Amino acid sequence: MSTFPLPAQPVARLIEELNKLPGIGPKTAQRLTYFLVRMPEKEARALAEAILAVKEKIILCSICHNITDCDPCLICCGEERDKTKICVVEEPLDILALERTREYTGLYHVLHGVISPMDGIGPDDLKLKELLKRVEDGGVEEVILATNPSLEGEATAMYIHRLLAPLGVRVTRLARGLPMGADLEYADEVTLTRALEGRQEI
Ligand SMILES: [Zn+2]
Repeated sequence: MSTFPLPAQPVARLIEELNKLPGIGPKTAQRLTYFLVRMPEKEARALAEAILAVKEKIILCSICHNITDCDPCLICCGEERDKTKICVVEEPLDILALERTREYTGLYHVLHGVISPMDGIGPDDLKLKELLKRVEDGGVEEVILATNPSLEGEATAMYIHRLLAPLGVRVTRLARGLPMGADLEYADEVTLTRALEGRQEI
């Protein structure tokens, strides 16, 4: 019989669930769990309800595929947005980063990933057909490729460029200056603003 003091089952379960979150290792999962155990019930309930609310109320915008609680999202139906430009990003978080610059006033398109043969992710797994359709529908003058400056991000940008080339739309790429391998979501506003201003036609 083991004398190792295992945590009570509900505690072990919470540690296991928290451990699944990105950036949370087993140690942090344990620390957070014991913090939550001591938390007043009212706060714990508010946290649990906030998690459920994102699952129940958040949907993807049918136009740009950003996460939203209304469809189309506030950016897609914004009167003040420049509808001739579409900025293509990997993840919804990248939109937050670009919006913080206040430099960009166009629309977005979220791919929900990048082409990555190593991970078995091909073009059909991304929202590429949807992007093609938006450009084919007309009214778009420029597509700005803002995928991350990583190998996969560059390869995906090149793929989209080839995909859109026959349509005669202007395709640009964010300027260099973003550190290679860095995620757009972590870039500071000054760097991102420069990358936007210095974007070049591919
Ligand atoms: Zn939208």
